[in-house]
Amino acid sequence: MSVLTPTAPAPPLEPHDASESPASPFVMPPVPLRLSDMTRDELTQCMLAWGEKPYRAQQVWSWMYAKLAGTVEEMTDLSKPFRARLAEVIAPLRPTAISHRVSADGTEKWLLDCGDGVATETVFIPDEERGTVCVSSQAGCSLSCPFCRTGTLPLRRNLTTAEIVEQVLFVRATMAARGVRVTNVVLMGMGEPLYNLEAVTRAVRIIMDNTGLAIGCRKLTLSTSGVVNKMEEAGRNLNVNLAISLHSVRDPVRDQLVPINRKFNLAALRRAALAWPMRGRDRITWEYVLLAGVNDTLQDARELVSWLKGIPSKVNLLAFNPWPGAPYTPTPREQILRFQEVVANAGLVTIIRDSRGADVGAACGQLAGTAGEPELFHAPMQGRLDSLEKLPRI
Ligand code: SAH
Ligand code: SF4
Repeated sequence: MSVLTPTAPAPPLEPHDASESPASPFVMPPVPLRLSDMTRDELTQCMLAWGEKPYRAQQVWSWMYAKLAGTVEEMTDLSKPFRARLAEVIAPLRPTAISHRVSADGTEKWLLDCGDGVATETVFIPDEERGTVCVSSQAGCSLSCPFCRTGTLPLRRNLTTAEIVEQVLFVRATMAARGVRVTNVVLMGMGEPLYNLEAVTRAVRIIMDNTGLAIGCRKLTLSTSGVVNKMEEAGRNLNVNLAISLHSVRDPVRDQLVPINRKFNLAALRRAALAWPMRGRDRITWEYVLLAGVNDTLQDARELVSWLKGIPSKVNLLAFNPWPGAPYTPTPREQILRFQEVVANAGLVTIIRDSRGADVGAACGQLAGTAGEPELFHAPMQGRLDSLEKLPRI
């Protein structure tokens, strides 16, 4: 591992403030240095290692995350020699977009280059009072939920902290240039965030830092398919809203729709949800994609209501976003409304989340990590399978 020593020696480091990072001693990262891989505390330690004053870190941090500087050159209150020194050793501050598509409803999707033949997708969803970035945590996914297009891809690799942070940074800067606000972040793009928990935890810390991107804990939601053995650790380290992809409260059906259910069944998921640390009026968001003839009867709705009893919950009913070759069809609108009525009548907040960006493959479950696919999302859908038995097994 090379050490950053353009001018100053780098002595072994102690954390400058032990209270901020009690567990992990700082290790100087290799060159080129990816600034967005570092928490604010680590950036401070990096500056100290260079023989700089700690306030340098706050200056750089503010330029990157609050003033959205795209290059070191723009950081004009840093001395010229320091800028030159920094520019010499750091990687570019922003990722490069390989493709960009805009939906008729205003949703935008970028394919961002991760530099090693891997790319990841990021989506911006504008609506009246907020602008939401949907962030990926992995390139591909190791799980294979059969209704999700990402699930048809192999897992290429986990994204790094920087690759997660820079998705938000990229969209925030792009939108700021147009005078559009980014208010919310959802970890609901490609991949299973709890299978990349370390990088996700660090990225969340950076994204939430109130002197930088400052996305508050109520504006940040992490969605998991139900990786029960990671939920305790996630609850301890992440102060975010939790969404769980439920899709059925019957084990045999959920075994098919969310195959991780074969490892962590509904009873285990329920226990983990009850153990999730809740503050005040917090609720867990349960995501439920409605698939025609699979999980969308009124009896399914009633069973959902009784399964949720005792858990502070809200329910997001997701309209199924079809993709070429998907083995399902969406539940008709009238049935979605009837299903919603049953759940709402039981006193649960229930939102129907309509498909956004479907025409450019940017809707939930359509992310495939490929560039240029103009006709793909208009291709006729395959009929749904008659029997769940025909679905792929893991
Ligand atoms: N892996 C995580 C987060 C990414 S998926 C998870 O599974 O929760 C984000 C959400 O999109 C999940 O609730 C998922 O079930 C849903 N989803 C996936 N494919 C979909 C599709 N084709 N239509 C509608 N929602 C879909
Ligand atoms: Fe992976 Fe989530 Fe898609 Fe399942 S729904 S395949 S866990 S991204």
